[in-house]
Amino acid sequence: MCSAPGCVAAVPGAAAADLPLETYTHMFVTCPTVVPAVAWLCRLGGRILGAVPPPDPLVIILGDPAAWRPQRGGTRAEARAADALWMHVRLRLLQAIWRARCVRAATPDGAAVPAVGAAAVVAMAAAAVEQDMRRDWHRVQHDVRSEAGVSAAMFAGHSDPMLTREAFEQRWCVRGVLASVVGGVGRERLVVSVPRALLSQAPAGI
Ligand SMILES: [Zn+2]
Repeated sequence: MCSAPGCVAAVPGAAAADLPLETYTHMFVTCPTVVPAVAWLCRLGGRILGAVPPPDPLVIILGDPAAWRPQRGGTRAEARAADALWMHVRLRLLQAIWRARCVRAATPDGAAVPAVGAAAVVAMAAAAVEQDMRRDWHRVQHDVRSEAGVSAAMFAGHSDPMLTREAFEQRWCVRGVLASVVGGVGRERLVVSVPRALLSQAPAGI
């Protein structure tokens, strides 16, 4: 049974058996506690993909292209990059929902439940996405092999861990939604714009 505040509060005094079953669909998509977070994801997905994904469990949980696929222009490479970024953000949100659910489940009866509602879930997902992005940006600017404190010979045979600015922009700067890189060669600066507010609006026209 779902123990999320949105479900428990909806049926005051209800026996556990009367609460909604905690199926994957309920937990990740339809539970009232996560609905605003899924709306945040869909709105952000719309800006990344150029078409707003529906809050369909097949789309949100599985990313099933048979259930929904955006109609859009652009090159195949642009479409692939947008799809990959959408999947990254989507999985980070699912992970945040799961973590919030586990925190709630691990809280002893009677103890104060930490903030694990939709706003906290979105903040967690956005922070994770930004951290992933900044790690990649670090790879653009630094060779992590020189920071490991061991001989470079230890890395012989491994693929180059550095990332080009172009590869970074292709991965993270899709449609300028989550980030952009400004400045010329040697003066590059990362500008991060991952939305964290539940009520943030997409630009008009998308
Ligand atoms: Zn629920």
